[in-house]
Amino acid sequence: MMPREKPYIKSNRQEIPAFAGMTSDAQPVTGNRQPVTVRVAVVGGGPAGMAAVGALAAMHIGVDWYEKEDRVGGKLNNYHQLFPDRVPASEAFGQLVKGTYHNHIDRHLGKAITSVGVNAGRISLNGKDHKIGEADAVILATGFDFFDARHKEEFGYGIYKHVITSADLETVFADGDKLLNVNGSAPASVAFVHCVGSRDEQVGVSYCSRLCCITGIKQAIQIRREYRETRVYNFYIDMRAFGRGYEELYREAQENHGVRFIRGRVSEASEDEQGRIRVKAEDTLMSRPIKLTVDWLVLLIGMSPSCSAVLSGKGEREKSFTNAENPLTGSAVKGQPGVFLAGCCAGPMSIPESVASGRSAAVQAAEYLNKKNGNSE
Ligand SMILES: Cc1cc2nc3c(=O)[nH]c(=O)nc-3n(C[C@H](O)[C@H](O)[C@H](O)COP(=O)(O)OP(=O)(O)OC[C@H]3O[C@@H](n4cnc5c(N)ncnc54)[C@H](O)[C@@H]3O)c2cc1C
Ligand code: SF4
Repeated sequence: MMPREKPYIKSNRQEIPAFAGMTSDAQPVTGNRQPVTVRVAVVGGGPAGMAAVGALAAMHIGVDWYEKEDRVGGKLNNYHQLFPDRVPASEAFGQLVKGTYHNHIDRHLGKAITSVGVNAGRISLNGKDHKIGEADAVILATGFDFFDARHKEEFGYGIYKHVITSADLETVFADGDKLLNVNGSAPASVAFVHCVGSRDEQVGVSYCSRLCCITGIKQAIQIRREYRETRVYNFYIDMRAFGRGYEELYREAQENHGVRFIRGRVSEASEDEQGRIRVKAEDTLMSRPIKLTVDWLVLLIGMSPSCSAVLSGKGEREKSFTNAENPLTGSAVKGQPGVFLAGCCAGPMSIPESVASGRSAAVQAAEYLNKKNGNSE
């Protein structure tokens, strides 16, 4: 995501104690420091990485945990409430991070891993220009990157102040900021555009990012809860609300919060003299053009793969997610024995799915080490 000036006013961000507590000098609090013979490296400190390190430590496996930022939590650090139950992101973080205060886990914050190399059963972890560590197995949990909305020039992200992304809006809510109109009062209307940077051959992305529909529903409800008079429109291609409680939230958005869902494609956005956003769209159910002027346009950006860069070691990101050797049953990476994928670096998934994926990768890494050390058939 591009760095940008905050296009809204009134910051109320308060440091959440649970987030603030996880710094480079945080001390592990549980588990006896027993001698461990094997070590697994986990790269990434988001929900998938947190779940993986907790599960490994519980199996008495030593863990080196690398995170490129100076705190763990991943994208969760900038979220407000989570779909579908509106659990505060800080609460989810608190639950996840608890499992990582363990004596078998050594944290390495502020360490970006740029490549891994497999050699004679050992795996090296490398930084930009030097080796950072070694391990018997590695779990890559580097998550996803937000699609860069500037590639969809027709929507004017980075040009018009009142065009923002769903990631920006999540930060607005998390910081307790206000999404106000150009005169400093509550917005009269806000529109969401679905599928920005997903299912779009123009930008070379054919997959569905799976979570942006439900993110758009969650954020539309949040706006209606904060500003009862604001009209909210969601322009969608198909509504994909597949998970537990998602369909119910979609209904709630329509029936209890009056969010208007329009099956239609937005073709372009432009700014008027007052700084409001003019939207041109086509209602594909009614086959008629729509012109609408709104105070804010929110682009529901897709999720882009991140771990191809680490696996290739060349820093180049691919446009499709890295496939596991056998995606039906495992998360091992083809041709790289001892390397496993967890969370969104393997594909778009929700936080509960990322947590399950992190735990699953931990079990697979343990099985791999057992076999390698001749402890099982
Ligand atoms: C706008 C938006 C809102 C969302 N809201 C919700 C929601 O309400 N509920 C929900 O269930 N899901 C939500 N999601 C999905 C959620 O963000 C993901 O499920 C979750 O972040 C995946 O966790 P992860 O650990 O795989 O990746 P991430 O959260 O991306 O964490 C990856 C971590 O790895 C680190 N890292 C990356 N590369 C390296 C490297 N080379 N070396 C070391 N460290 C590295 C990163 O700094 C980061 O800390 C939302 C997604 C979007 C786009
Ligand atoms: S989840 Fe919805 S908005 Fe996201 S790519 Fe799929 S269909 Fe489009």
